[in-house]
Amino acid sequence: MATDTKYIFITGGVASSLGKGIIAASLGKLLQARGFRVTNQKFDPYINVDPGTLNPYEHGECYVTVDGHEADLDLGHYERFLSQQTHKRNNITTGRIYQNVIEKERRGDYLGKTVQVIPHITDEIKRNIRRLAESDNFDFVITEIGGTVGDIESLPYIESLRQLKWEMPKNCLCIHLTYVPYLSAAKELKTKPTQHSVKDLQQEGVQPDIIILRTEHHISDEMRRKVALFCNVETEAVMQSIDAPTIYRVPLNMQAEGLDRVVLRKLGFDISQVPEADMNDWNSFLSKLENAKQEVRICLVGKYVQLKDAYMSIYESLSHAAAYNDRRLVLTSVLADNLTEENAEETLRGHHGVIVAPGFGSRGLEGKFAALHYCREHNVPCFGICMGMQAMAIEFARNVLGYADANSTEFDPDTKHNVIDIMESQKNLVNLGGSMRLGAYPCRLKEGSRAYGIYGKNIISERHRHRYEFNHLYQKEFENAGMKCSGTNPDSGLVEIIELENHPWYIGVQFHPEYSSTVLHPHPLFLDFVHAAITGSK
Ligand code: GLN
Repeated sequence: MATDTKYIFITGGVASSLGKGIIAASLGKLLQARGFRVTNQKFDPYINVDPGTLNPYEHGECYVTVDGHEADLDLGHYERFLSQQTHKRNNITTGRIYQNVIEKERRGDYLGKTVQVIPHITDEIKRNIRRLAESDNFDFVITEIGGTVGDIESLPYIESLRQLKWEMPKNCLCIHLTYVPYLSAAKELKTKPTQHSVKDLQQEGVQPDIIILRTEHHISDEMRRKVALFCNVETEAVMQSIDAPTIYRVPLNMQAEGLDRVVLRKLGFDISQVPEADMNDWNSFLSKLENAKQEVRICLVGKYVQLKDAYMSIYESLSHAAAYNDRRLVLTSVLADNLTEENAEETLRGHHGVIVAPGFGSRGLEGKFAALHYCREHNVPCFGICMGMQAMAIEFARNVLGYADANSTEFDPDTKHNVIDIMESQKNLVNLGGSMRLGAYPCRLKEGSRAYGIYGKNIISERHRHRYEFNHLYQKEFENAGMKCSGTNPDSGLVEIIELENHPWYIGVQFHPEYSSTVLHPHPLFLDFVHAAITGSK
């Protein structure tokens, strides 16, 4: 174990969806801005081995790390806040913990012992926390424990936290995030649920060091003293996290509450020797975000639009790009299933740009074609991502190349014109163990193309999550008709980017640029797309 690493745990109480991920990312950002090496980790108590198979309606977006792990969307927040990549080891589920333990048991590693939750499952959990610390000699590992204290599923994690606190009392700290409801009839904030949730935690052997109260109204000093007294924490360690107009304000709110200062003090740092967090760049982003007056109206065409979390990274990437373009983002989501050739114009009119979203399966595909057809012919800036790019290729083949039966073999295995297919050359690129192309792959950009102009370099690296590919047998025909293949994999030649000539902005990418836009490093494709949307609308 990196001996000096400090371990911070974030647990949640009273209700789920309080924004533990944002608090964890905010604390990570503040410590990083003081010059420390920090990483964030998420433990998910569900039994799935990873969220890759979960429907986005169940669990929001599936995020993908550069090393090809299908991860919880909180890892996206960590990357966006810290501008630092996460990996498979940053996200652990109960399913994976059990899978590892059972594999060890089958190998005979436990030497005939009875395998139990304590110590075998808890040891495996602790091993995953320490392993992360060692991977890059971090000063801080911030571990967010999913779920709510008191859940059966989260018990082994809380028990592991208890053991780590007991083993390393000076290097471990627990932050408990709870909810303080406001009773409008009585005009009162209520701390009783917090007291009960802290009792649950104490019953499991863990005394929180810091309590953060999620609230819609300011928490008075008197109320903070009361929580401190009942929950056995210092008054200074009771903080509020009040509703913020944007998640990007939360680090500053928590800085004002003294979160990073109290964390450092409690972990034995001489605070006078540690520089204050330098949040200058963050602040200038935030002031652009909060002060932009003029709107940029973008329409997102997708199939999971009823749940905003399903397209979390696209939404955040657009909000970064809008802020840096001094525009206020107005995002309309349209369910692709409802779009037709007949209503596309009426639905999309008034938007400065359209994004056709990623997604699996054929539902909503015809609606995506209708949106693309409209944007292509009416010079509306249009950005196709993954399935969106594949739909761009199919629509182009049908309506420009004249192949009425053009399709992807995914949806019509018997089609004569499969412009999207499983490519031979893909097979040796795909990670072992799965048929999907997952994680970061290099891409070479054609000089003189728009994509090259946007990135300003030859070789880029972007994250993938898909099975099907552009069928390069059609590459010449597409290019001759004006749809250029401007980005290809340097090893296999697989087509990664298509772009339409003589159009203000019509680009499809097989990869997911949305996974790598961060607050301090907004993604160039999103920046340029929003820019085109603004200038096209003048
Ligand atoms: N049809 C797609 C595939 O190639 C869609 C993937 C996606 O949009 N993430 O598997």
